[in-house]
Amino acid sequence: EALGPTITVGEILVEIMATTIGAGFLEPQSLTGPYPSGAPAIFIDQVARMGGAAGIIASVGNDDFGRLNVDRLRQDGVDISAIAISADWPTGSAFVRYRPDGARDFVFNIARSAAGQIGLTPAAKDLIGRAGHVHVMGTALSIPGAREVILHAIETVRARGGSVSFDPNLRKELLTDDGALESFNHVLGATDLLLPSDEELFTAAGLTDEAAAVASLLESGIGEIVLKRGEQGASFFGLDRPRIDCAAFAVAEVDPTGAGDCFGAAYLTCRRKGMAPDAALLHANAAGARNVTWLGPMEGVSTLAELTAFIAQAPRR
Ligand code: ATP
Ligand code: MG
Repeated sequence: EALGPTITVGEILVEIMATTIGAGFLEPQSLTGPYPSGAPAIFIDQVARMGGAAGIIASVGNDDFGRLNVDRLRQDGVDISAIAISADWPTGSAFVRYRPDGARDFVFNIARSAAGQIGLTPAAKDLIGRAGHVHVMGTALSIPGAREVILHAIETVRARGGSVSFDPNLRKELLTDDGALESFNHVLGATDLLLPSDEELFTAAGLTDEAAAVASLLESGIGEIVLKRGEQGASFFGLDRPRIDCAAFAVAEVDPTGAGDCFGAAYLTCRRKGMAPDAALLHANAAGARNVTWLGPMEGVSTLAELTAFIAQAPRR
């Protein structure tokens, strides 16, 4: 951590949730929100809450949706100096409704919101120049301006001796143009720590067998892979290191959105603070489990003390 803060780049959104389970938004219905959201924002908020130095390069509108996000990030200790406030574009949004089987329908407004205006501003360059680690959220690769910032940040931070982590959560709804896939492969080639969930592991490796996919990615130079398995917990894989499996904590799931982001932030922050992979994995599982017990994707972020207390008493699956 001595080298500088963990930074990320990408969409800050509000999330507005259907209060009932069902298919999509084709008729009037009751909604709840706005909640602070956006995968990169949830991630960086969780880093800061754990006491990690953290900053984000992003863009919001000059509106309440932007203000509620920026206020939360500032309050939780995130460096907000590189969040631009657009005079012309509204803050991005995501409407989400759960289906009976747990699948989600989304209506996103990201590329044509303030989030679509992310670019390499002087404040962004300054933050990148001070950073020690870049976390790349796959979702942000659907924003052309953010892609450019991400590739620049990776190059700059690696040249300073810093490292790169990657959550390849590029949803198919977000695959807007060819540049997204091209940059996906570029980022993968620079990744030290990969944080996929099941399907994403296969996409990243271009293989459909778990062991083969892990072996191929480790072979390609990725130092650590931590696989997220939802309520099945998570697994650690490293080159020439024993595999570690971690059972999930038994909790009552209220809202699973954001679990992966909190998990990744907790794992990375523990590792950057010098914790061994098994301890980092346990804290990450705790952060994911705690997050799903809150309604709202950023409402269940944890401090290190909260994680420690949770680990000491929570039952495992
Ligand atoms: P998202 O994209 O929705 O943020 P993800 O698909 O990236 O999530 P998940 O595997 O769903 O990631 O969740 C990340 C981690 O959070 C899991 O590996 C697990 O440790 C924890 N977790 C998630 N859901 C539950 C649950 N229902 N009970 C306990 N722990 C959970
Ligand atoms: Mg995910």
